[in-house]
Amino acid sequence: MIKLKTEQLKKSFGNLEVLKGLDLEVKEGEVVVIIGPSGSGKSTFLRCMNLLEEVSGGKVIVDDHDLTDPAQNINKVRENIGMVFQQFNLFPHLSVMDNITLAPRQLLNISKSEGEKLAMELLESVGMEDKADAYPSSLSGGQKQRVAIARALAMDPDIMLFDEPTSALDPEMVGEVLGAMKKLAQEGMTMIVVTHEMGFAREMADRIIFMDEGQIVEIGTPEQIFNHPENERTRDFLDKVL
Ligand code: ADP
Ligand code: MG
Repeated sequence: MIKLKTEQLKKSFGNLEVLKGLDLEVKEGEVVVIIGPSGSGKSTFLRCMNLLEEVSGGKVIVDDHDLTDPAQNINKVRENIGMVFQQFNLFPHLSVMDNITLAPRQLLNISKSEGEKLAMELLESVGMEDKADAYPSSLSGGQKQRVAIARALAMDPDIMLFDEPTSALDPEMVGEVLGAMKKLAQEGMTMIVVTHEMGFAREMADRIIFMDEGQIVEIGTPEQIFNHPENERTRDFLDKVL
């Protein structure tokens, strides 16, 4: 079953055409990793998938709902798509517990105790159950990012978007965040992940997309992309990062 689809997705900022007509189909439970040089449009592509950016042309379809249709209730669809950013974006003035319960309490109308029970389950799943009362400023980068993952999961999304979730972390903290993501993938979450962690891509991706200059240059399995890249631009990029 196709979970998320983009059709000829285009995005411009003023005169700058950043996405030049991208076609992608992501199946339920699939892990798709997006790689490519800085400035190639990876973040913009992810942000268009949940309409954090207004698209300039083409379509984004999630579960047969056209998000780009003006009649669509975007907020409802967006609740189904969790996002994790490079810079964590936790609310600094809220405890870990409140960071996680804020959205489900406001949007799903659940009680305080139900919210806290849910938050504790999610914190356990990312190994952060003893930090429920802590504030973000007291956490390491890896801990913040695991809380950010738990927070995104609190709305019970069925697609998760990750934009370079480990790029702001000290090297020793990368593993704990990738570990939480692997667990989620193994549980069957549909995931679209922009990352420079080629080990994660090789091990966890069902398919890898190589993007350059606002286009999907090549899509394939990790075996195809890493061992037999067909496009010269893909080969050049991999030569630099591997
Ligand atoms: P990547 O994530 O692959 O590094 P981005 O999607 O962040 O690439 O950016 C692609 C291009 O779009 C870059 O040239 C960037 O400067 C430009 N861009 C991104 N966001 C904006 C914006 N809000 N306004 C203007 N230009 C932008
Ligand atoms: Mg980016």
